[in-house]
Amino acid sequence: MVSKKSCPKCGSGAIDFYAGGLTGIYHCKNCGYSGAIIVEEDTPIKK
Ligand SMILES: [Zn+2]
Repeated sequence: MVSKKSCPKCGSGAIDFYAGGLTGIYHCKNCGYSGAIIVEEDTPIKK
């Protein structure tokens, strides 16, 4: 299983994670969104 993180605002997968505080902050390189909430979905690996 691969966890795919994407931006809740624009849906881009260009997400950076910054550790800090209790949960850390995610930052979207595409639209500039930053926050602790992102879209995370588990995608089965296809062989
Ligand atoms: Zn975004």
